[in-house]
Amino acid sequence: MSAEQILKVALDTPLRRLFDYLPGDVPAAVGSRVRVPFGRQQLVGVVMGLAEGSDVPVAKLRPVTEVIDAEPLLPAALLGFLGWAASYYHYPVGAVLAAALPKLLREGVDAREAVAHWHATPAGQEALAAGSLGRAPKQRELLALLAAQGPLVTLDLAERLPRWREASRPLLERGLIAQEDVVATAVDAALPARAESSHTLSETQQAAFASLCAGLGQFGSFLLDGVTGSGKTEVYLRLIDEVLARGQTALVLCPEIGLTPQLVSRFRERFSVPIAALHSQLTDRERLAAWRSAACGEARIVIGTRSAVFAPLRDLGVIVVDEEHDASFKQHEGGFRYSARDLAVVRAQSTGVPVLLGSATPSFESLHNVALGKSVRLSLPRRAGAAEPPSLQLVDMRAHAVHRGLSTPLAMAIDRHLADGGQVLVFINRRGYAPTLMCSGCGWIAPCQHCDARMTVHQREGRLSCHHCGADEPLPDDCPRCGYKVKPLGHGTERVEETLAERYPGMPIVRFDRDAVRQASDLEAAIERVTSGEARILVGTQMLTKGHHFPDVTLVAVLNADQSLFSTDFRAAERLAQTIVQVAGRAGRAARAGEVLIQSEFPQHPLLLSLLAEGYAGFAKQALIERAAAGWPPYGRLALLRASGVKPEAAIDFLRQARKLAGTPVGVTLQGPVPAAMVRRAGRHYAQLLVESTERPLLQRFLNSWLPQVEQLESGRALRWALDVDPLEVF
Ligand code: ADP
Ligand code: ZN
Repeated sequence: MSAEQILKVALDTPLRRLFDYLPGDVPAAVGSRVRVPFGRQQLVGVVMGLAEGSDVPVAKLRPVTEVIDAEPLLPAALLGFLGWAASYYHYPVGAVLAAALPKLLREGVDAREAVAHWHATPAGQEALAAGSLGRAPKQRELLALLAAQGPLVTLDLAERLPRWREASRPLLERGLIAQEDVVATAVDAALPARAESSHTLSETQQAAFASLCAGLGQFGSFLLDGVTGSGKTEVYLRLIDEVLARGQTALVLCPEIGLTPQLVSRFRERFSVPIAALHSQLTDRERLAAWRSAACGEARIVIGTRSAVFAPLRDLGVIVVDEEHDASFKQHEGGFRYSARDLAVVRAQSTGVPVLLGSATPSFESLHNVALGKSVRLSLPRRAGAAEPPSLQLVDMRAHAVHRGLSTPLAMAIDRHLADGGQVLVFINRRGYAPTLMCSGCGWIAPCQHCDARMTVHQREGRLSCHHCGADEPLPDDCPRCGYKVKPLGHGTERVEETLAERYPGMPIVRFDRDAVRQASDLEAAIERVTSGEARILVGTQMLTKGHHFPDVTLVAVLNADQSLFSTDFRAAERLAQTIVQVAGRAGRAARAGEVLIQSEFPQHPLLLSLLAEGYAGFAKQALIERAAAGWPPYGRLALLRASGVKPEAAIDFLRQARKLAGTPVGVTLQGPVPAAMVRRAGRHYAQLLVESTERPLLQRFLNSWLPQVEQLESGRALRWALDVDPLEVF
């Protein structure tokens, strides 16, 4: 290396550039972490490139303090992908890297640190065979697991036996199990035994599978458009089996692992290879272990939520995005607002492997890509096995008596299904007891002090809470203004549960919402109550729409479908249709046919009618025509500059100046600035400026020249602002 060789280092700072350093005593490769002086601090960064010179005089450059990784931590292809993401979302590459790396690696922890592997000792095998652990079922379970499948890493154990730690202590003391520290190095995984499936693929599954197999080894985008229960997951499993057999690995993205433990367990049941699950409930150590296990090639399958799109798999052979329409793939907070689904396609393209997007309710973007010929649609129009599709019906709320949120026809249907021994699922997209607390004397409504929003009543805890900022206070008995009695208005899950408990005394009810289900173990317990048949009624929010398989649910009741029919957001209709179809898909997944009743105040609404008459595909066709006419995505391209400040006018003023800087760009229109739909949230005032274009390159070119100027604005310093490229919502 010549003395003038300069290291281009990405650092997690708000500045959208790389920083130049002189090499230290040890050479650093591209993709390695280095510790560098930055002002008076020492920061950990990643070497993005080497250059012959620098714009800064060499005399002013400082050398790196330490080279952390002797070998590159990130392979060139992954670095390139991250760099692309940074430029597309106009976010500093150092900050993008920070979002992609586990916290401990960002802090400079050795990437090759030893990982504990657990196994059963010969004494343990004997004890197991002799059945000498009869009165310690947890210990026996752990020992049996290790004997059959060990060695397992801590991460794996925690996933499979939630309370394995307690059981491990006595076993360790007695020498029945042992722990060995292994430094993860590149693993050459042996080809796994082929997974066994009990199902013969249906004709359509077979056709989809064949197209996918033919597409292996090169980039291709596929949309697996299959109704709920049509066997999409089965197709993923087969495809991944094929990929593993070729000695490659698979990345599976799903909306929320905590909420879909069934998906991960299906993978674990099917495959004997190590699987790393990457999700928000991992501790920092667990996340690091999972990351490493992917990086060294030990994990052959990585299943994860949004940020797993950056997982460093070796020999990647396919990317699957399950429930690709789900909004949670889009990071909508903070500065790096990426879409994991869109990035999955980009990553697949740069790696030269196929990407499979699966959904029963494909996003309009994905449908549009099919229409453009950029993506191949594979359809599974019918349910797998014997399951019949559910029948959908609207209940006109204006034509029937409604008692505490339940219309008469709906209540009668619930009576009937319960009497027939079916399970009933009641969906209401609102948690809490009631969305409003009102004084029946003076009309006072409990407001949030920090937001333009009402406080939600949580009756059981005796609290009022704001679902936008988290503000929380005791539930008053009387109106603070006039002293008269206050009463809850409207319905949330908690109240619906109460109503149903009164109407069906003795019928076990299980509630699914963020208040009742706080962690994975709560969810598993709730799901177990449903699948065992113990619970007869399920009440819940969106949480119930996510991929669960409840074979004995025969009736699905949707209580408040209307809420978003008149929303001004261009995506509201798409979301509503997806929610209805997804929740309806929980009904009648096994041998019994399902019935779906949707309560509505507007049963003549064209959206609801097209959805009922023609299903999601017909609805989407209609709605896409409207999008095209209005120039909304997927026909137009958007970016939204959002700003917020403590002072009421500050955000708007900043955005006005930003707009002025834009001038009159070619092929790009700016709209606004306007106050956000909810102006005041958590004590801050929000406003936004919308940037539109018909062409992605035009939009990108404009943003490239405009943003550096916006960054210079003095008025932006005291504010929070962020650019959202391809925003999901614009109001
Ligand atoms: P999806 O992912 O589309 O909701 P799944 O793959 O979960 O569908 O399949 C739904 C149910 O049908 C599961 O219980 C699955 O085991 C079963 N199944 C899938 N494919 C077949 C098949 N070819 N024959 C019989 N049953 C199947
Ligand atoms: Zn609030």
